[in-house]
Amino acid sequence: MRLIRSRHDTRSAVLGYLWCSGGSFRPDLAQGVALTEASISRIIGDLKAEGVIQETRRAVPYRGGPSQFITLSNEISVAAIEISNNRLYSAIGTLAGETLYVAPYELPDGLGAAEVDATVSRAVCDIAAWATQRSITLEQLAVSIPGYDPDLRASPIVALDATRLADALQRELPETPARLTNSMVARAVGHRLQIGTGVLGGSYFFVFVGHGVGAAIVDELAGSGDVETCEIGHVVIDPAGGLCRCGHTGCLETHVSTVALADILAVQESDLLSRGDCWPHDYRISVQARAEIRVRLGRLGLAIGNALNLNRQRNVVIAGWPGALPAEDRAVVMEAIGQSRLGGLQAVALTFSNASLGREPVSGLALAAFSFIRRSGERRAQARQPASS
Ligand SMILES: [Zn+2]
Repeated sequence: MRLIRSRHDTRSAVLGYLWCSGGSFRPDLAQGVALTEASISRIIGDLKAEGVIQETRRAVPYRGGPSQFITLSNEISVAAIEISNNRLYSAIGTLAGETLYVAPYELPDGLGAAEVDATVSRAVCDIAAWATQRSITLEQLAVSIPGYDPDLRASPIVALDATRLADALQRELPETPARLTNSMVARAVGHRLQIGTGVLGGSYFFVFVGHGVGAAIVDELAGSGDVETCEIGHVVIDPAGGLCRCGHTGCLETHVSTVALADILAVQESDLLSRGDCWPHDYRISVQARAEIRVRLGRLGLAIGNALNLNRQRNVVIAGWPGALPAEDRAVVMEAIGQSRLGGLQAVALTFSNASLGREPVSGLALAAFSFIRRSGERRAQARQPASS
């Protein structure tokens, strides 16, 4: 295991472990971050004094065992703007995972830059107003944007101008650190929170199949904790295929997104999304539809196998609508990965994760908490001072 050395890294690792575990006794926390209890005790003391974590007495799990239970603080608030499924969600929640405020705004695919700008500005103003009215200090804001690339001023998927967003944030929330990311980072981070501590071991390739389709390579929290996106949804698999919202034709996304799936099932996408993991049970799926879904799963598998040829990850997690299907349908994905990945399925561990469809802004808020943790839980300067009144 890699040794964690700097104070910044140790603080991040401690907070990351508490975040994933939902709270921990000191010995388990020390073991989780691969350090001794003595070596983390000062950091725990600091984080407690800063109000980032809380320690409470809990019934001991075994005789003579620990009794002080540490959790992230519910007193620290973070905010998120998450763009997903033709909507923008603005939200405020606590570091410990409680959602305090959510407002959805319509943001249909293909909306012009001026309308997107107006909606984003309104969302930023509403977050700032909600927090100000309640004297809530927002320690971090995270914005999750489909197709976001820091090298491009606007995303090819949503006509959101990053510079104008930064201006709005500077005007309304000047003291709150903001992190703009690709929505796949938010999805991957939201999933990371859902699976808890140390389940996979090592880095993994995370694929999300929903309204948008994308992937990310996620490093272990005890390592760098980095999440690097991979635009697998916009791998062109049929240049003569249908128009994608990115402007190209025949992207994987046009074949396997929930828009495509709703088409096959002849239902509304919004209705499909609202059913979460129940969709295979809720709808009557014809023989032809089932066969077509399998064809699409095969294309998804081929694309994943090819992605693994470019980046040799062993652990693969697929989240989204395929996870709700019976094992025989999911096997099509695995088979197709085996057909395109050099070396076949050998040494690849594939996991399907539940849909997480229609759960916005859970991923956005998870990303905000994660961003605060990755910068080691340093609070805003004025928030550290006791109230002067
Ligand atoms: Zn595309």
